Amino acid sequence: YYNEKTMLYYDGKFQEATTASTGLYGQSLHYGYAVFEGIKSYKTKNGTKIFKAKEHYDRLKKSAELMMIPFDYSTEEMIDLTYKLLEMNNLSNAYIRPLVICSPNMSLSKGNKSSLIIEAWSWDNGYLSDHARIMTSSFERPNPKAFRIEAKASGHYVNSILASQEAKDKGFDEAMLLDGNGNVAESSGANIFYEKDAKLYTPAKGSILPGITRATMFEICDQLGISYEEKFFKPEEMEGADAGFFCGTAAEVVALESLNNIPFKLKWENSVSALIQKAYRHLVFEEDYSYLKQALYV
Ligand code: PMP
Repeated sequence: YYNEKTMLYYDGKFQEATTASTGLYGQSLHYGYAVFEGIKSYKTKNGTKIFKAKEHYDRLKKSAELMMIPFDYSTEEMIDLTYKLLEMNNLSNAYIRPLVICSPNMSLSKGNKSSLIIEAWSWDNGYLSDHARIMTSSFERPNPKAFRIEAKASGHYVNSILASQEAKDKGFDEAMLLDGNGNVAESSGANIFYEKDAKLYTPAKGSILPGITRATMFEICDQLGISYEEKFFKPEEMEGADAGFFCGTAAEVVALESLNNIPFKLKWENSVSALIQKAYRHLVFEEDYSYLKQALYV
């Protein structure tokens, strides 16, 4: 992630990553009381562009607010700092990780002061192999009545680590977690869709992080005239569907090969989902993807 030359932003200034440090007495380290973002930038024909920068930094502010963490950076300020950081580190296709931590305070009351850290590193591909094999996790998503589940809070990711590692230990690529009612929720770090008769389905909000990529999928569907629906459904409904995919900033759009060892019916190349995957790739690079519409009517 970093070397002797890497710069990061912390506590109001750009610093060398190897020497920047934080204290050992704090709520963020001890209790996971922190919020973060996962953002990507791409080398487009118009220069390096942070994809959906406003949406991500607005969500960071919203996450801090939901977690009662005092935080007063503006979205514009953070976008500006991020472009500076990318330039400083000579990055274009990159992953950007802003993190808001609370400063020294070991109590169980809300934070009284926070610091913004922004780190970035080179990233050329998605984080999962293509055609992931996934399983229903024995871990549920956190109960939305016990957490602010729509906040991207560090502590929530303990659940993600447990689920993801369980899946890997069982020989799968990733986990699919259910909510407390047994409905499909999401993966450890991505939202989930399945395709049936050329229509897409994705879990409704409630026990998920409503992803920015998930919203981008709707945007692409609207552009291409593909229908989609947000609803609650059980894993059995998704098993053996025509196709399925994960989507998220890091993952982008990842084709699923099987769920609980039951393969999806269509060859990925023949699915509507594959077109959406292609469209997303064009969109992040600021390329026109309207030509893909034709493929839907042949
Ligand atoms: N769900 C979880 C649990 C995640 O960690 C992520 C990644 N941020 C997503 C969904 C996808 O969100 P986004 O598309 O905004 O990256």
